[in-house]
Amino acid sequence: MTAAALDETSETSDALRVLHRVFGYGSFRGAQQEIIDHVVDGGDALVLMPTGGGKSLCYQIPALVRDGVGVVISPLIALMQDQVDALTALGVRAGFLNSTQDMDERRSVEAAFVAGELDLLYLAPERLRSEATLRLLDRGTISLFAIDEAHCVAQWGHDFRPDYLMLSALHERWPKVPRIALTATATEATHGEIASRLNLKDARHFVASFDRPNIQYRIAPKDDPKKQLLELLRTEHPGDAGVVYCLSRASVEKTAEFLVGKGIDAVPYHAGLDARVRAANQSRFLREDGVVVVATIAFGMGIDKPDVRFVAHLDLPKSVEGYYQETGRAGRDGLPSTAWLAYGLQDVVQQRKMIETSEGDEAHRRRLGTHLEAMLALCETVECRRVQLLDYFGQQSTACGNCDTCLNPPEAWDGTVPAQKLLSTVLRLERERRQKFGAGQIIDILLGKKTAKVIQFDHDTLSVFGIGTELGVSGWRGVVRQLLAQGLLAVEGDYGTLVLTEASGEVLGRKREVLLRREPEKAARAEKTARSSRKSAPVDLPEALLPVFERLRAWRAASAKEQGVPAYVIFHDATLREIATAAPTDLAALGTISGVGENKLAKYGQQILDTLVGAESAPEAPGRAPDAPDEDFADVAEPEESEDPAGEPEPEF
Ligand code: ADP
Ligand code: ZN
Repeated sequence: MTAAALDETSETSDALRVLHRVFGYGSFRGAQQEIIDHVVDGGDALVLMPTGGGKSLCYQIPALVRDGVGVVISPLIALMQDQVDALTALGVRAGFLNSTQDMDERRSVEAAFVAGELDLLYLAPERLRSEATLRLLDRGTISLFAIDEAHCVAQWGHDFRPDYLMLSALHERWPKVPRIALTATATEATHGEIASRLNLKDARHFVASFDRPNIQYRIAPKDDPKKQLLELLRTEHPGDAGVVYCLSRASVEKTAEFLVGKGIDAVPYHAGLDARVRAANQSRFLREDGVVVVATIAFGMGIDKPDVRFVAHLDLPKSVEGYYQETGRAGRDGLPSTAWLAYGLQDVVQQRKMIETSEGDEAHRRRLGTHLEAMLALCETVECRRVQLLDYFGQQSTACGNCDTCLNPPEAWDGTVPAQKLLSTVLRLERERRQKFGAGQIIDILLGKKTAKVIQFDHDTLSVFGIGTELGVSGWRGVVRQLLAQGLLAVEGDYGTLVLTEASGEVLGRKREVLLRREPEKAARAEKTARSSRKSAPVDLPEALLPVFERLRAWRAASAKEQGVPAYVIFHDATLREIATAAPTDLAALGTISGVGENKLAKYGQQILDTLVGAESAPEAPGRAPDAPDEDFADVAEPEESEDPAGEPEPEF
């Protein structure tokens, strides 16, 4: 029986009927039903759900069920057009008002709103500052207010937008209209701030599990990050769409250039690019298959492309919240995806320095410090990454089996003696010579290297000279990094010089043991084995079905281009995969597939069936060879032009 047929016969709720008919989905996920029922009944709600959890339906369906127009407040002006296109493709009447429109467009949307000819109206928050907008809203019937990206009201977070503070007044002007605030950011602190600042006193709070089981979290020691990234892309994500985050604009550009040079379809994105170039790059990423965007954190909020297969960080994020949001952009469609971060000593030094020199008062710096420490603890943990991440959001869980520490457990070792040697070297330089040095010089002293700089400063006469030959350079860098992470050592000034902290004394005085993490040797291998079933296929499918899937993708790409909409607006990968597997032969069967609603069935149904018939008779689809050897990435190992020393980070915010 098709979803549509089910509706005729049973006593399904209006909400469930809309889910089937409009969205083509079989059932609600998680708390969706409860949230939707609550809002349909006129209640206020605060919804905390991870990215990809299915927040949009929580306000879209009540807006369709209740009388009037659902008003959605969203900071994402650049994405409103795509959001409206996606709804239009489903047969939902949607419009938006923002500064990108001309007068005529605005007038016609306003008229449609007043006439009750819209189901959903998207508004940028700053619109609500104008009395004209408020009067316009008075002239129509509003079914609900949805406040998307609600964490923008929180100053504790990282996306604060002053205009969001005004949203607390909505309730005074329209006391009968229910409000639903939604966010994917969910520490206790942010949660509380959203509720109080939006004046959501009587709202019901819905807190979903923050787990994203389809994302594999991995944090690798940083060695040669661009090379490591390239290897990841070539071995695990050939032809996949993904996001690469870098801290500075300069490294965004260099990394994008590097990838393009290696044949990867990559585009840069940062706040310093010309607005048109930026928009064009974002649009390519959204509309085409398999584009990699290299970006600063200025990119990504609200990007609801479902088939982002990986998110890679080449620099340490400033907070766990930021990291979780950014990595959460992978795998919204629920298919396997990778979150990969390369992290090294330089990151710690750089971030500490940035905090030290940041504007704002002492309390602000302390807050940044707390954020950084939580991030470092995640990087240095020997426990399951996911357990630690979820714990940060106040949720308990057990080892996941799908993160690097689960797949390839690192060892913890007693590093007290090396820690003492290192701290003692710092101490002696300070006490005996009144000198401070960075990690490089200190490691050279420990290793007993007579470099020019060691000789110049007479450091080979120190009693600690050469006492640390049990470790190599990278071993010592690991020790420095972890001591910094644990607060047993600190960096100071512009040159990243190392200084002792109060806690260093406890280690030197043998009052405290130091546990360190030993990086697993064969990390890369194990990761590969864990994922070898994916090979170069964009989705998990039996090999025989790949040509069919590819034909469907090609059909989708052509239709998307013709209509000027992102490919996922037509169908998601997950839906195409299900179509390839089920191989429906008539429209009724096609209509039962998740993601195929009434409107899309009518519009694309026959084309899909034709594509499937064509695939059957064609011996082999053109293009991708499903079993191309992906082990062969020989030129990854080629010597490369040497790196510039890390440029100054230009944080976006
Ligand atoms: P969020 O806004 O929470 O990040 P979305 O609303 O974009 O998540 O939903 C994530 C994906 O899950 C979308 O592709 C959406 O179509 C899909 N989805 C949401 N709810 C359901 C459901 N009940 N059944 C099937 N797919 C769903
Ligand atoms: Zn795990």
